[in-house]
Amino acid sequence: VIEIRNLHKSFGALEVLKGVDLRANRGQVISLIGSSGSGKSTLLRCANLLENSQEGDILFEGEAVRWKGRGAARHPADRAQVLRIRTNLSMVFQQFNLWSHLTVLQNVMEAPVTVLKRDRAEVEEAARGYLAKVGIGDKCEAWPAQLSGGQQQRAAIARALCMEPRALLFDEPTSALDPELEQEVIRVIKALAEEGRTMVIVTHDMSLARDTSDHVVFLHQGLVEEEGAPDRLFSQPESERLRQFLSHVS
Ligand code: ATP
Ligand code: MG
Repeated sequence: VIEIRNLHKSFGALEVLKGVDLRANRGQVISLIGSSGSGKSTLLRCANLLENSQEGDILFEGEAVRWKGRGAARHPADRAQVLRIRTNLSMVFQQFNLWSHLTVLQNVMEAPVTVLKRDRAEVEEAARGYLAKVGIGDKCEAWPAQLSGGQQQRAAIARALCMEPRALLFDEPTSALDPELEQEVIRVIKALAEEGRTMVIVTHDMSLARDTSDHVVFLHQGLVEEEGAPDRLFSQPESERLRQFLSHVS
C-alpha cells in the first residue's frame, strides 16, 4: 500500500531523515519505534505528504508521487494525486484535533461530506457505524469537550475510518492519555489489526508494538537502524542502540 525509498528530509540545515525505507503491504501492521527526535513523526508526515521531502520516492499502491523541482525546491506536482494519497492514508494524531464546534457525529462526517463529496445520508450511516465500532455509539450528539480523552481519541479513529482509507497512520495515539484510558484505545487498535487493516503505528508502547505488529522498524537519528518481526526484534535485538533503547523504555 505504501512504499518509501531512500527518503531524505531536512528542516533547513537539520537533516532529519537520511535515506529511510519503509514499506507496508496490504493487511500489514508496521510499528515505528525510536527515541524522541529520531524522525518518526516526520516520516509519517512525509508519507502522506503533509510535509515535503527533498529526495527519495514515495509510492502509494504502486503509484509514485510525481514531483516538481529538485532538492530543497522539490514539491508534489499534482494536487489531485496529493489529495488522493492524503485521503487514503488517514492520520490519527497524538492530540485528537477534534473540532470543538462540531458534535462527535459531525466531526466524523465532515471530511467525507465536504472533501470527498459523498452522499450525506450514506456518510451519516457509516459514521454512526464507525462510532459504534469504536465503542462510543451513544456519543454521537455529544460535543468533544464532553468526552474523556480516550473517547475523544476513539472518535478521532472513527473519523479516520470514515474516510475509508487504504491505510491508517497513527502518531503516538495513546501517549496523551492516562493509563486506564490508554487501554480502551489500544483495544480498538488491536481490533483493527485483527480485521486486517493496513496500519503504520508510531508508538512508545512496546507492548502495543509487540502485540499488534507484523513488522517493527527502529529508527535512530534519521536512519533505520534495525527492523524485523516483533518476537525476534524485542527478544534478540542485534544493534547495540536498539538494545539500549529497549532497556530505557521497558
Ligand atoms: P518524538 O518521539 O519526540 O515525537 P520524533 O521521532 O517523532 O520524536 P520528529 O518530530 O520527527 O521526531 O522530529 C525529528 C527532528 O526534526 C527533531 O530534531 C525535531 O526538532 C525536528 N523537527 C521536527 N519538525 C520540525 C519543524 N517543523 N521545523 C524544524 N525542525 C523540526
Ligand atoms: Mg513524534
